[in-house]
Amino acid sequence: NAKTPRLPSHLKTTIPSGGSYAKIRKDLRGLNLHTVCEEARCPNIGDCWGGGAKEGVSDAESKRMATATIMLMGDTCTRGCRFCSVKTSRAPPPLDPNEPENTAEAISRWGLGYIVLTSVDRDDLIDGGAHHFASTIQKIKQKAPHILVEALTGDFAGNMEHVSLVAKSGLDVYAHNIETVEALTPFVRDRRATFRQSLKVLQQAKKEGVRITKTSIMLGVGENEEQVLAALKELRQTDVDVVTFGQYMRPTKRHMKVDRYVDPAEFDRWKKVAEDMGFLYVASGPLVRSSYKAGEYFIENVLR
Ligand code: SF4
Ligand code: SF4
Repeated sequence: NAKTPRLPSHLKTTIPSGGSYAKIRKDLRGLNLHTVCEEARCPNIGDCWGGGAKEGVSDAESKRMATATIMLMGDTCTRGCRFCSVKTSRAPPPLDPNEPENTAEAISRWGLGYIVLTSVDRDDLIDGGAHHFASTIQKIKQKAPHILVEALTGDFAGNMEHVSLVAKSGLDVYAHNIETVEALTPFVRDRRATFRQSLKVLQQAKKEGVRITKTSIMLGVGENEEQVLAALKELRQTDVDVVTFGQYMRPTKRHMKVDRYVDPAEFDRWKKVAEDMGFLYVASGPLVRSSYKAGEYFIENVLR
């Protein structure tokens, strides 16, 4: 096997400081929310939490444009994808029945404009956690209807009733990540996940009347151009509105190797290709993650 390529400089980032980032961070203390942004040490935290921070934009306005991702249902997943650093167990601890209420209360007090809710996969639960997810969204919308909510879910093991339950909870954006092209899916994702099943999840959300559906693809895991194009075509046929591209980064030596570091120019090219295919919005860049600056974009352009 080829050696792992060296980390290029465009993937090295600095820790942000000041502006609405600092304020949002301070506000978070005492709210007992677990953000993926902090816990996964996401390199985009300055951009996402900074919202539209620039000269002439007030702190309040910048906070309204900020995005954060909250993790529900614990830190232990029943699946084991080869790119993912989340802990795995066949029997994670039971759900906290107060989590929907407490999370909704904390989010409404935090006051950001855009919240992404995500979770580990819970194949151990009869409903895969769908009721828990839906109830959290309903409670956020009751307490703070102006907050836009994106749910980034797993595939609920292909149970479309569970997908529907979340899709009808009052959310604004339904996201589910295909992660990679079809041919590489068995090598990249847990064996219970399939490309077809993921397309069905996205299709079901649209069927339930969700305005925006969204997915994400990691580049640099061994895919070729033709395969990416084929995936994009299928996503468009499934009426997916938004696609994001980012670079796969190996979390530890136990995870699959990076096949290559994709050039920033190639990310720009994929953005153009996807936009020309009719996607409503495309975020593409080495450090882009599925929720990257979602609030700033959606609040400005789509969901106003
Ligand atoms: Fe948080 Fe997602 Fe933005 Fe990273 S990309 S800072 S996880 S909202
Ligand atoms: Fe990670 Fe999600 Fe795969 Fe679980 S299902 S291992 S959280 S990517």
